[in-house]
Amino acid sequence: MPSIARVVVDLSIDREFDYSVPDALKASVQVGSRVIVPFGRGRRTGFVVARPETSDVPTLKPVLDVVGERTYIGEDVIRLARWMSDYYAVPMERAVRTVLPAPVRRRGTSHKKQQVAIPVAVEEAAATGLEKKAPKQALALHYLQKHGPTPVPDLVKACSIGHAAVKGLEAKGFVRIDQVDLLRNPLAGYELIRTGPLPLMPQQAEALEQCRASIDSLTPPVVLLHGVTGSGKTEVYLQAIQHAMDKGKGAIVLVPEISLTPQTVDRFRSRFGEGIAVLHSELSDGERHDEWHRIWRGDARIVIGARSALFAPVQSLGLIVVDEEHEPTYKQDEAPRYHARDVAVMRGRISGCAVVLGSATPAIESYNNCRNGKYHLVSMPHRVDHRQMPSMRVVDMRRQAEQEGKVYIFSRDLVDAIGNRLARAEQTMLFLNRRGYSTSLQCPACGHVAECRQCSVAMTYHKTSHELICHFCGDRQPVPDRCPDPECGDPAFKYAGLGTQRVEEIIRKLFPKARIHRMDSDTMTRKDSYRNVLGDFRTGKIDILVGTQMIAKGLHFPNVTLVGVVYADMSLHVPDFRAAERTFQLLTQVAGRAGRGDVVGEVIVQTYTPHHGAIQAARRLDYDGFADQELAFRREAGYPPFSHLVILTLKGPSETRVRFAGENFMKRLSPLLPASVMSAGPLPAPLARLKGVYRFHIVLRARSAKSMTGPIREVMQGFAWPADV
Ligand code: ADP
Ligand code: ZN
Repeated sequence: MPSIARVVVDLSIDREFDYSVPDALKASVQVGSRVIVPFGRGRRTGFVVARPETSDVPTLKPVLDVVGERTYIGEDVIRLARWMSDYYAVPMERAVRTVLPAPVRRRGTSHKKQQVAIPVAVEEAAATGLEKKAPKQALALHYLQKHGPTPVPDLVKACSIGHAAVKGLEAKGFVRIDQVDLLRNPLAGYELIRTGPLPLMPQQAEALEQCRASIDSLTPPVVLLHGVTGSGKTEVYLQAIQHAMDKGKGAIVLVPEISLTPQTVDRFRSRFGEGIAVLHSELSDGERHDEWHRIWRGDARIVIGARSALFAPVQSLGLIVVDEEHEPTYKQDEAPRYHARDVAVMRGRISGCAVVLGSATPAIESYNNCRNGKYHLVSMPHRVDHRQMPSMRVVDMRRQAEQEGKVYIFSRDLVDAIGNRLARAEQTMLFLNRRGYSTSLQCPACGHVAECRQCSVAMTYHKTSHELICHFCGDRQPVPDRCPDPECGDPAFKYAGLGTQRVEEIIRKLFPKARIHRMDSDTMTRKDSYRNVLGDFRTGKIDILVGTQMIAKGLHFPNVTLVGVVYADMSLHVPDFRAAERTFQLLTQVAGRAGRGDVVGEVIVQTYTPHHGAIQAARRLDYDGFADQELAFRREAGYPPFSHLVILTLKGPSETRVRFAGENFMKRLSPLLPASVMSAGPLPAPLARLKGVYRFHIVLRARSAKSMTGPIREVMQGFAWPADV
């Protein structure tokens, strides 16, 4: 019986290849090994994904060599990668790349080594009269005796001596010098006070009970914790993790990247101390590598991080927590386009561990999974401090526009409310629920696009100068107050190009004395700026914080008593079947920011569609009502969770070639699709042209994902794409 290794080579082809394993390599070739294999006429590196018993191929070529130490990946994560490869229709090699980040995948270990001096024979040294003969060596030895093992560079510096003195000590055998792995700690430099578990409120105790049952016996396998902001979900996570730890198990906590704030991480660190690894996108390659190494060795049993933390090689995983499970940022925006919540549930199933999803506004899909019995729902409807939820006022922006015949960005209600807060030295958050941004301006009410009068092409919106410019003739126009379409004339048009920068400018003019700061992805470029701005806001150095969704997440500022949503409809008018859900979530989340202190908070929501179901449900704090209404709509329209959607995006510099490739692709695909699959396209994507690249969509919809992904993979394998599509 030959020993077989199944390998994905480092090429983006959707196939795996079997090789025989020579006796000499038998011990070192394992699932997860990096290997060199003959491929075509040359050789390639690859990754062992299985050690099957048999192969369909009669004669196998041998594995040539193993590269580096074993990579940090467990069999469960390989199985997860295989599932992702199937479900998201990507080659296994792509899935492996995803579960094993580049710095971790690279050959060998890349720890920074450092020389550390360790005292070994202090008494003997004294007996030889070192003091007199070599005072510098004696000084160093004295230092080591007092401080213990010390990195050589530090020792040299602390004693103001040369390296020769340390070498001298080593030569005499008084000191040993070791090469030690230097772990880069991304959290170094912050001291925290240790916290213990809090006595739980009844609703938390009930929730914890369910989480424990899930950890102990996987019944239920998935718990959905629906708890209003401030209901104490995090404390439940912490105690559930403790329970897993007590059973000798590890845990993964996923948070959306934007809420991976120092505040969140600090809460976990103060409870569990050094046993935590933090994975986020700002880690250097070295830091990332070190964190994985610590997890693999079991030095860190708890991993907290964004999406990719899901693949961390935690030994004997007991629990996965997905906080803010409804967050759109859990969706990866490149292949494989996985949703971290769904992959978490799948990893739970594969690794045999509990999964706890938490949110104040669970995703409609998750809510539906509770209804049909797949998840177990636990509700925490009360705030820990029994403080009232803030009152939400919906301001109808049409009214003021009609009364005064002029359109304002800020209603009088909101301006007055901000003025009041400034007078009382309370803080305000102003919030623009903008998602992405387009280069053309479209009327949110009628869809009219601002076009150039001469060229009849869409004008390009320029954010910095806040004007429209035609890129054909160079004509410039100010952004109109109302929709230019004579049939429509909707005043909300003014908001079409509105960004946080503009809001900041206006608010500065209205309140010249106020201390105002803007927080969005444009201003948050430096590594520490997030921490700094939030620190300034917390200590009262900022009166008004203007921002995007970024400021809506899990932050606690007791002195914020007013939250203003500048234009609630902004997230309603996007071509996305989740637009209403997103709007409801965003409004509920921002509302949760107000009134955490002793004063009841106020939320002012400006809108042109005050009666929209999502806005009204948010005002009433009625999640269930919204979810039921939304599920009815989804069922009617055949949207998820009552179907699966696939979007194929084709891009290229030539419109004709992109369209042509799309048509050819559909010609091959259509005959393979079962009749139950609905398909449309290729059609110009909502953003049909972006930075000189044409974009087309093919949209498929069906009850079964496999009925679409299977045929797509089949066509993909042999499809000859034009080089620039
Ligand atoms: P959520 O995550 O649901 O928004 P948190 O876990 O952040 O809620 O809890 C809100 C606040 O209440 C936090 O400051 C937390 O320390 C505190 N808290 C949570 N549970 C308790 C408890 N059982 N007793 C006292 N304070 C608690
Ligand atoms: Zn219009």
